[in-house]
Amino acid sequence: MMAIMSRVFYRNPSHAYPVGLRGEGVYLYDTDGKQYLDGSGGAAVSCLGHGHPVVIDAIKRQLDSLAYAHTAFFTNEPQETLAVRLVERFGEDARVYFLSGGSEANEAAIKLARQYWLARGCSNKRLIVSRHQSYHGNTIGALSASGNPGRTKIFGPILHDWPKVAPCYAYRHKKESESDEDYGLRAAQALEDRILDVGADNVSAFIAETVVGATLGAVPAVTGYLRAVRDVCQRHNVLLILDEVMSGSGRTGTYFAFEQDGVTPDIVTIAKSLGGGYQPIAATIAQRFIHDAIVDEFGYFAHGHTYIGHPLACAAALAVSKVIDAEDLLGNVRRMGGRLRDALHDAFADHPNIGDIRGRGLFVGVELVIDKASKAPAAASLAARIKDEAMERGLLVYPGGGTADGRVGAHILLAPPFIVDSRHIDELVAKLKLTLDNVDPGS
Ligand code: PLP
Repeated sequence: MMAIMSRVFYRNPSHAYPVGLRGEGVYLYDTDGKQYLDGSGGAAVSCLGHGHPVVIDAIKRQLDSLAYAHTAFFTNEPQETLAVRLVERFGEDARVYFLSGGSEANEAAIKLARQYWLARGCSNKRLIVSRHQSYHGNTIGALSASGNPGRTKIFGPILHDWPKVAPCYAYRHKKESESDEDYGLRAAQALEDRILDVGADNVSAFIAETVVGATLGAVPAVTGYLRAVRDVCQRHNVLLILDEVMSGSGRTGTYFAFEQDGVTPDIVTIAKSLGGGYQPIAATIAQRFIHDAIVDEFGYFAHGHTYIGHPLACAAALAVSKVIDAEDLLGNVRRMGGRLRDALHDAFADHPNIGDIRGRGLFVGVELVIDKASKAPAAASLAARIKDEAMERGLLVYPGGGTADGRVGAHILLAPPFIVDSRHIDELVAKLKLTLDNVDPGS
C-alpha cells in the first residue's frame, strides 16, 4: 500500500490499492512481493500476459526510430502494416482508424455512422439504438449508447436520450417453452419494433457487444440472433456496429467474435487484446462503402485526436498480433477456454450460489445467485466483495454488479491471458473455490 500522502485522484479514493511492481507471464507482483494470478487480464486486456519479450523489443525498436509523428503530417509504417493485417482478418474490404481506447473507438463509430448518412443525403438519421445491460464507454456519446445504470445514472441529464432494447440474455430472458432460435428471433424482433417505433428514417446505427462483457459477464447471443439483427438493420437502412472492444482480437477463440455468429458488421470496434496492455490502442474498422461515401461527399472524416495512429501503439499491437499467430494462441484460447469452463462446472456444479457459467474462449462469466432454482439474484455488491477476497488469495477477477436488471445481481468475469496452460487453469479454479467458500453471498 502507498505509505506517503498520495496526490493521485484514485478510482475509489477510499480503497487502499497495493502498488503493482512487475509482471511476468500470467502473474503480477506488488511491492510487498505478493504474487497474483491474473485471472481477468485486468479488464480482459493482458492477452499475452506480462513482460512479453517480443512485444517489449518491438516497442523499444520503434521508440529508437520514431516515437511520434502527427497523422496530419505523416503516416507511419506500423499503422500501415497493422491496418493490412486487421483488414485481412475482417474479411471485407475495409478501412481502419486507430485510436487510444475503447470509448474513443465507439465514439468514432457513432460519428462515422452519422457522417455516412449525411453523405447519403439522409440528414434525419441520427439516433443510435443500443441495448439495455450494455457498456460502450465513458465518453458522452459512448455512455449515451450504454445501457448500464450504474455508470449512466449520475450523468443522465447530460447524455443523449437514445432508444434502447432488451439484450439477448438467455439465462434470464429466454422462456422455458422457447428454443434458442425462437428466443433469438424474439429478441431481434424487439429491435425491429423499436426501430419502427422511432422511425427508421431517424436511426443511424444499432450498436451491440457481440459478447456482452463487463455489464452481463461474458454473455454471447443465442444462435441466430445476430443474423436476424443483421437482417433487421439491412431492411431498415441502419448500420450495424459491433463493439468487440472486450470480446474481439482473439479473446473468444476467433480473431473477431462475430465470426462465430455468421455475420459481418458494417463497423467493428476493438481495443483491449489489440495491444494487450503494452500500449493504449483501439481500432474502428469500417467497411469500404462507408469510407468511400464520406470521402466522395466531404473529402474526409470530420474527426481526429492528437494520438490517432500512434506509431508506438501500432508497433506494440502489430507485435501482439504476430505473437498470437506465431504461437497459435487462438487455438490455445479455444482449448484452455473449454478446459476453464469444464473445470468451473466440475468445481461448482453443486454450489448453491453459482447460477450460470457461460462465455466463449477465454471470456467466461460466472453469475451469482441467492437461490439456484429460482435464480433470485445476488446483491450487486457481492461481486466487489469476491474481487477483494480473491485478491487476498492472490487471484485477480473482474467484478460486475447489477447483472440481472441493472440494479441487482452480480457476476465475475474471467479473462486470463491467451498464454495460460492447464496448471494455471487449475490454480485459478482452486483459488476461486477458496474465495467463494469464504464470502457470504447473503451478507
Ligand atoms: N466497450 C466495451 C465492450 C468495453 O468493455 C469497454 C471497457 O471496458 C469500452 C467499450 C470502453 O473502453 P475504454 O475503457 O478503453 O475506453
